[in-house]
Amino acid sequence: MIDKLAEVGGLLARGKIKHSYPHSWRSKAPVIYRNTPQWFAAIDQAVGDGQDTHGKTIRERALTEIDNVKWTPKSGRNRLHAMMEQRPDWVLSRQRAWGVPLTCFTKKGALPTADDFLLRNAEVNARIAAAFEDEGADAWYEEGAKERFLGGIVDPDAYDQVFDILDVWFDSGSTHAFVLRDREDGTEDGIADVYMEGTDQHRGWFHSSLLQSCGTNGRAPYRNVVTHGFTLDEKGMKMSKSLGNTIVPETVVKQYGADILRLWVAQTDYTADQRIGPEILKGVADSYRRLRNTFRYLLGAVDGDVTPVEPADMPELERWVLHRLSELDGVVRDGYSSFDFQGVFSAVFNFATVELSAFYFDIRKDALYCDAPSDPRRQAARATMQLILERLNAWLAPILVFTMDEVWQERTGGEGCIHLEDIPATPAAWQDAALAEKWATVRRVRRVVTGALEVQRREKVIGASLEAAPTVFVNADVAEVLKTLDFDDLCITSGIAVSTDAAPADAFTLDDTSDVAVSFAMAEGDKCQRCWKILPDVGTHAHTGVCGRCDAALSEIG
Ligand SMILES: [Zn+2]
Repeated sequence: MIDKLAEVGGLLARGKIKHSYPHSWRSKAPVIYRNTPQWFAAIDQAVGDGQDTHGKTIRERALTEIDNVKWTPKSGRNRLHAMMEQRPDWVLSRQRAWGVPLTCFTKKGALPTADDFLLRNAEVNARIAAAFEDEGADAWYEEGAKERFLGGIVDPDAYDQVFDILDVWFDSGSTHAFVLRDREDGTEDGIADVYMEGTDQHRGWFHSSLLQSCGTNGRAPYRNVVTHGFTLDEKGMKMSKSLGNTIVPETVVKQYGADILRLWVAQTDYTADQRIGPEILKGVADSYRRLRNTFRYLLGAVDGDVTPVEPADMPELERWVLHRLSELDGVVRDGYSSFDFQGVFSAVFNFATVELSAFYFDIRKDALYCDAPSDPRRQAARATMQLILERLNAWLAPILVFTMDEVWQERTGGEGCIHLEDIPATPAAWQDAALAEKWATVRRVRRVVTGALEVQRREKVIGASLEAAPTVFVNADVAEVLKTLDFDDLCITSGIAVSTDAAPADAFTLDDTSDVAVSFAMAEGDKCQRCWKILPDVGTHAHTGVCGRCDAALSEIG
C-alpha cells in the first residue's frame, strides 16, 4: 500500500508506530479479539413488568432511586449517578468454562430480534429451578439436559441450549434477593437498611445491585449506602505482603482485644483512607483505658442502693451534668443515625474524660467519700452518676461491644443484655440553657483558679489544691454568680474569697480570660484527718482531728 502510494506520488509521510497489544494478566500471552454474540440487559427499553413507580426503563428507575437512597458520604451519590447516566447496556454473558450458566434456550432458525427467539416458558423455568435447587448449577451441563428440561413441553430439537456464563456481577448484584427476600431472617420488604463496602464498589456491587433490582423489582435494593476508604499503614503506605507492612485484624484482636480494633474504627474518619499501625493502636489503647477508668469510677460510685433524686432537688452542678447529658443524647442519636461513628465517639470521649473525670468526678470525690450517707449532696451525686452510667453504657454499646457487656453485667448482676436495650430516653426537664450559660462562666473562672494552683504545685508550695484558699478577683456580675455556689468545693480548695476589688499586679491571669485574676494564699487551720480540708474548726469537735462536716458524718455512720 505504501509502495503504491509512493509510486503515484501520493505519500505525504511515513513512520513506524509500536502498538501495545492486550495480554492476559495471568498467562502474559497476547489476547486475540473475537466478535461473538452476547446477551444484554437493555437498560433503555421499557421493562414492561408493571413496576413503573420509579420509571419504565432500568436506567430511569436507577436514576430516580439514586436520589431516594441516602449516601454516606454524600459524594457517593454523584459518583454512581454519573456512571448510571452514561453506562451502555449491561452485557450479561461471558464465554467462560466455569460459572453460573445463563439458563436459556433459543429457537433454531429464528433471528435474535424475533419475539419467539428466546424461549419464555414458566414450566421449563420451574424444572430448571427445581433441578438447580437439588443438584446445583451442574445440572445444566449433564448429558441430556436439553431433553430433560424441554421434553413434553416443547420440541427439544427445535431449540438450542445456551452455554454462556452469567456475568459474576449479576450474581453479586442479586444478593438482596437471596439474603433479604428468601430468608426467614431477611427483611419484610426485601430491602436492605444498609449496603456497606469500599469506595471502589460504586463501579461494582452498589452498581450491579441497583441495576439488577431495578430490573427485577422496579426499585433500589437498599435505603442507605455507606462507603469507606482503604486501610493504609502508619506512614500512609498501601499495605502489601511484599512490603511486610500488613496488619491483620486477628493479630490486633489477639494483642489488644476486639474492642480496641472496633474503637480504632470508631475513632477514624472512614470516609477517607485510614491508617493503622503499632503507634496508632497504642493511642487507641490509651483512649480505651481512660474510658475504662471512667466506668470503673461510676460503678464504684453507684455500688449499693441509689436513691433517685428529682432534678429540681439537685445542686446546680448535678443539673448542669443532666443538661450536658441531654445535649449529648441528641449528638449520639444523630451521629448513629447518620453513620457518624467518629462524631459519636469523640463527643462521648471528651465528655467522659474532660467534663466527667477532670471536672465533675474530681469535684464530687469529696462528697462521695466524706459526706454523710443521708446528705442530699451525696445522694444527688450518686443519683446523677447512676443516670450517667446508664447512658454511657448504652451509648457506647455499639462500639465497645464486649466492654459494655461487662459493665452491664456488673450493673445488673448478670440479668438481660445491654445489646437488647434501647438508649434511655432523656426527660425534657434536663435541658436548661440558662444554667448552661451560667456554668460556662463558672468553668471559665475555675480554669484561672486551677491555673494559679498549678503554678504553686509546680513550685512545691503546695502538694494538693486543698492546701490553698485563694482570692479570685472578678467583676460584680461574675461575683454575683459565684456567690450562689460553693465555689471552694468546685475549685477543690479549702476556702476561696471572691473580690470585686482591683486585682494586685502580681495576681495570676490567663491570656484568654483577662477579666479574672487569682491571688494565691495558703488555707489556714489544721488538716481534717478525714476529708483533708484545712479548716479553722478542725479539732474543736467530738471526734478528734476532724472538721464539723466530718464530725457530723461520723456521728451518723456510728
Ligand atoms: Zn473533714
